[in-house]
Amino acid sequence: MNLEKILLKNATVYDGLGSDSFISDILIESGIIKEIGKIENMDCEIIDIKGNAISPGFIDVHSHDDIALIVYPEMDFKVMQGVTTVINGNCGNNVIPRYGTIERWQTRYPKSSLPQWNSYREYIDLINDIKPSVNSAFMIGHGSVRNGCGLKNEERNPSNSEFDQMKGWIREGMEAGAVGFSTGLIYEPGRYSSTDEIIELTKEISEFSGVYASHMRNEGSNLLLSIEETLNIGDKSETSVEISHHKISGKNNWGLSNDSIEMIHHAIDKGMNVNSDQYPYIAGQSALFAIHQNNAFTDGDGGLGKVDGDKVIIAHSPLTSNYEGKKLSQICDDFDLDEQQAAEKLLSEDPHILAIIETMCEEDLTNILSDQYTMIGSDGVPASGSNPHPRLYGCFPRVLGKYAREEKIISLETAIYKMTGLPSKKFNLNDRGTIEVGKSADLVIFDPETINDVATYENPKQYPEGIIHVLVNGSFVVKNSKHTGKKPGKIIPRS
Ligand SMILES: [Zn+2]
Repeated sequence: MNLEKILLKNATVYDGLGSDSFISDILIESGIIKEIGKIENMDCEIIDIKGNAISPGFIDVHSHDDIALIVYPEMDFKVMQGVTTVINGNCGNNVIPRYGTIERWQTRYPKSSLPQWNSYREYIDLINDIKPSVNSAFMIGHGSVRNGCGLKNEERNPSNSEFDQMKGWIREGMEAGAVGFSTGLIYEPGRYSSTDEIIELTKEISEFSGVYASHMRNEGSNLLLSIEETLNIGDKSETSVEISHHKISGKNNWGLSNDSIEMIHHAIDKGMNVNSDQYPYIAGQSALFAIHQNNAFTDGDGGLGKVDGDKVIIAHSPLTSNYEGKKLSQICDDFDLDEQQAAEKLLSEDPHILAIIETMCEEDLTNILSDQYTMIGSDGVPASGSNPHPRLYGCFPRVLGKYAREEKIISLETAIYKMTGLPSKKFNLNDRGTIEVGKSADLVIFDPETINDVATYENPKQYPEGIIHVLVNGSFVVKNSKHTGKKPGKIIPRS
């Protein structure tokens, strides 16, 4: 039998471009889609898809798997939901220079000893040697390079030599194949940088057609000012823009999605390339330190709006794991403290706590999801021994099940386009994201009638229903809804 070939029969094909689906067979040879159409049986592995859906593998544009690729190379939480490529380096955090970023990553995996790397090339070689189950691309993190040049938590502009150092890393990253540059402007050290600093740094990625992705300064009462800043950075640096996890945070601000979407459309009408990404949940996840620092438990005038204690769940608390899974309101009762005091007590015991916070509403969520320029990104944060946000396990099936099939907010074709063809174009991953002859065989086969997320806030580590097979570079990483243990993934450079 020819082991280089796989024939998938009787599939309902969704091409990733939003076109109407059609019934077809697909032949894969040596990891590439070789033929689409009616294909006679041949001497190779033949799988009957039985009319189920086949689409390009999902591209998770908002991932934080930079180190998870090393610690959990099977990447089960992603491939079991149909993700075949993760885009890392979001919210200002990537991996270079290692000393500027490793402390933060180590807190997520306190028991793992992480290997050395000294450059983007070495990080790429490391991941390609490990061969995770999923492909990955990466962005350069502003926070990482700002920390790296000695500006950790320094509330001042960089000197000329510090600028040169940061630009050097950004250029090195782009030359190594990075797809963009990201900021995290509610976090340290991003929050201390001026718009001009970011414009000057973002100019470095323009000639490489990189994407500027931003976790903006404010997603609450000053959301529209933040969108204006982000668009201004893209305009001045002549760069494609991505608004990370587009949301409206804080009850007083609900409804602002009409205005934020209008601003995006206006910029596009003027000729800019702008998109946003979104996860399909009304709760987010962030560092408790940052939630507290942004006044979410007092006046709510920071980047997240005001957050109530019964809408906060402790997700990851490496030094005090007994708090994991508890609501902040419960901890307040236990210690007879108000929310601000309880958060301060928790942070004094463990400064690296991650918390799930419910601050959004369904109307804004579906409004943003319906926008043609919105892509899907899980923003899942893998960490050892934690109670993660369920988006880490369920993001993509939730869009396909709850929001496309059940609530009919968008069609199945459109939902798939937002996870495949749109992100591959945005990030210049031209070999992926569509089902066409000659493209890499990153594919997902699922049952459109049953696909659904199963992960909940109470019990998040649950694989979704309805994902049948997943192929990465032509190899089955999921077969009959089970992880095969295969690890055919690699770093994909910008094309
Ligand atoms: Zn973020």
